Amino acid sequence: MNDTITAISTAVGNSGISIIRISGDEAFDIAGKLMKLSSTDVEKIKTHTIKYGHIYNEAGIVDEVLVSFMKGPKTYTREDVVEINCHGGAFITKKVLETAIKAGARPAEPGEFTKRAFLSGRIDLTQAEAVMDIIRADSDYAIKSAGRRLNGGIGDKLKPVKDSILTDMAYIEAALDDPEHMSLDGKAEEIRENVINNINALNNILENAGKGRIIKEGIKTVIVGKPNVGKSSFLNYISGEEVAIVTDIPGTTRDALLQNVSLGDISLNIVDTAGIRETDNEIERMGIERAKEHLSDADLVLMIIDVSKPLSTEDKELLAEIKSKKTVLILNKTDLERGLTDEEYKEFSEFNLVEISAKKRIGIERLTEIIKEMFFNGELDFNNEIYLSNLRQEGAIRRAKESLNMVLESIDSGVSEDFYTIDLMNAYNAIGEVTGDTTSEDLADKIFKDFCMGK
Ligand code: GDP
Ligand code: ZN
Repeated sequence: MNDTITAISTAVGNSGISIIRISGDEAFDIAGKLMKLSSTDVEKIKTHTIKYGHIYNEAGIVDEVLVSFMKGPKTYTREDVVEINCHGGAFITKKVLETAIKAGARPAEPGEFTKRAFLSGRIDLTQAEAVMDIIRADSDYAIKSAGRRLNGGIGDKLKPVKDSILTDMAYIEAALDDPEHMSLDGKAEEIRENVINNINALNNILENAGKGRIIKEGIKTVIVGKPNVGKSSFLNYISGEEVAIVTDIPGTTRDALLQNVSLGDISLNIVDTAGIRETDNEIERMGIERAKEHLSDADLVLMIIDVSKPLSTEDKELLAEIKSKKTVLILNKTDLERGLTDEEYKEFSEFNLVEISAKKRIGIERLTEIIKEMFFNGELDFNNEIYLSNLRQEGAIRRAKESLNMVLESIDSGVSEDFYTIDLMNAYNAIGEVTGDTTSEDLADKIFKDFCMGK
């Protein structure tokens, strides 16, 4: 039914080996052609075996290869799949791909293998998205999270909610159709209870949605502090690279540099700024505006203070500004004599504190611990928590919740049952959007099966 597609499945570049994947009805035949196998040889190939050989084009041998042959449905796409392991040079890899195309495979669109896995019912939409996330993941953590979703996490958690809505909906429909045999008396109270349980379940999933984004994209972090406290030095220390300019002249870091930094298994997306003090300097002010912008949507603020100097009014203003944010105060230059008084230290009591020396490169371990405590209760293990990490999914679940709230309103205002089937249906469809399955047939099946309408 499907045509046969092919693509290079490994990153293009000069690596050790490359994999060219072919999926579809013709996959075995095409690979056979490339390897100059007879059709009887191709027929004899056992599924899930690897064959050694050569790939040929009209000019001769292209490469020496190992080829995996896998018959559907026990494959990623559920179709017949062949994977050619060839030598990793970009030139050879492309050549092999070219011969596969000449032999009849069509170049795959981006994500098409995964799309086929979804269309064949092997994975639901959240799982398909998780595959994409794994490909793009830039921390161990994100990979673990995506891996969990790939195993069906969200779908599993949504299923009881969906089933419960479907059952109520189906009952109402059936009772409206067949009032002689099925009664709606007392049903409203029962449905009301179910709806409340379902809203709670959705709330629970939504609460974890923010965490999911943080894991996937990293903690959006803003570094603030007046000029010369050591912001650039700190950034260089934690990123292990010279990325920011360090100088003795206040206000040198004028551009907002974006930098992704891994602290152990946490990923921070850091915006270094010129500081957020008021200033008359035109260029500096742009930096300050930008810093304030970032501040409002930052997950984490790291404020740097120079402990070798007394606290200034600038420091105090900044402290007031960031009070409402998730903040760590970083007391820098601890290798120097302390200029802060004990009184001033007291001002910090309500903040998370870390003492460091950016210059001596001391203190990062404690910072990592504190951030873990703040964002993951010290635990970077997810256990069985489910994280929605995608706005599409989050939006659909919010809509489902709204519809369920409408059902509650309808029940409480005493309107007849057929009124709230619409909202139940909307909630059901919205959840179905998350997992990507269809609804109308389900509903028909359910009515038929559970309520024996075919009397
Ligand atoms: P920024 O303006 O906040 O980005 O500050 P910089 O990172 O440019 O640092 C300003 C000055 O403080 C430079 O001379 C740094 O070498 C110095 N500095 C930064 N961190 C430390 C530290 O931990 N100890 C000492 N002794 N000096 C530091
Ligand atoms: Zn700087």
